[in-house]
Amino acid sequence: KPSKRITGIVPSGKDGWEVHSAAWARQQAGEDIIMLSVGDHDFDTPSETIEACVNAVRGSNHHYTPLPGLPRLRKAMAAASTACTGIETEPDEIIATQGGQAALYAAVQTVLDPGDHAIVVAPYYATYPNTFSAAGATFTVVETPAENGFQPRADMIRAALKPHTRAILINTPNNPTGAVYSRERLEELADICKEHDLWLLSDEVYWTLGGGEHISPRSLPGMAERTLVINSMSKSHGMTGWRMGWLTGPTEMIRLLTDLNLVTTYGLPAFISIACAEALENHYGVKEIAERYAARRALMLEAVRGMNDVTVHGSQGGMYVMLDISAIEPDDEKFAWGLLDKEKVGVMPGSSFGEAAAGHIRISLCQPEPVLKEAALRLRRFASNYR
Ligand code: PLP
Repeated sequence: KPSKRITGIVPSGKDGWEVHSAAWARQQAGEDIIMLSVGDHDFDTPSETIEACVNAVRGSNHHYTPLPGLPRLRKAMAAASTACTGIETEPDEIIATQGGQAALYAAVQTVLDPGDHAIVVAPYYATYPNTFSAAGATFTVVETPAENGFQPRADMIRAALKPHTRAILINTPNNPTGAVYSRERLEELADICKEHDLWLLSDEVYWTLGGGEHISPRSLPGMAERTLVINSMSKSHGMTGWRMGWLTGPTEMIRLLTDLNLVTTYGLPAFISIACAEALENHYGVKEIAERYAARRALMLEAVRGMNDVTVHGSQGGMYVMLDISAIEPDDEKFAWGLLDKEKVGVMPGSSFGEAAAGHIRISLCQPEPVLKEAALRLRRFASNYR
């Protein structure tokens, strides 16, 4: 019989990806499906990074690496963290992880014991609840109202605090809404963390894809010692399949996290570490990728602007646009299934990301502009013929 720990990770057996899985299966079977359901680039990793990896494989980089990451990689990640968070970060404040998801897992394991409580600000990235379940921790979802531009509200977070609350998890720029949290809202969150002695887990994997100014709560007064920043090569450097990310935090926490790597990854692949170090040092692809998503976001927002009964909130950064379709159909799952069946466009129902996103659909911008234009046409046709 499997352990409760493992069966508890996806307790309902329903993970919110049902429409996406159906869209993918239909595409594989040869249907003309436009997939706007995933956050994975339609383009390859920049050629310079591939070249760096090939050179590293041809060299003798085939051996174990230090548990917290190769020194050169930690140095490059520290420099990237300095740029991302706006405060000077040292290599011993960094641990390399297998992607942002493993950084999230590590962060949650590091600050929460089984039975501890966390606050998850929603709409959230789909794996957040599972990541807390995997630690045996409990959590309360605090919604950020759409009419508020999906910005977090301090009064709502305060109302959800419990005596055993240990952490708050946020994500800016946000998946799925595209909201970029403002300095004022982050300062309010920082005050709550300081008042109640909480950790702030800050997922900043989309920091290079923001439309406005990216503010990391790690840079706010008194927050560096209580913030763990989740970061990743996946989105910024076009490297989703390489599985490389990192966590930034106080030196003592990073030292403890090394013990987690001892029993999980036992270090990361040497040649991938070297390619990532080179990609970080030279910012391979970063500017081009950011510009590409900015152009696609502008295209999609423009296409949606003319649609009756469809509204957009947030949408300043990241790889997605959230559309409020509740004036057409309050049941977002029904809308998403209909869009797939009738117009062959796969999107994510908003309710997969928490209640605040119910009545919305999430459109990913991971397709070339002509495909996005075609998708917008199909969406317009579906919305105007609805019922
Ligand atoms: N955090 C957020 C908000 C995400 O959207 C994703 C992926 O979509 C991740 C973390 C994990 O990404 P990765 O593990 O590829 O770094």
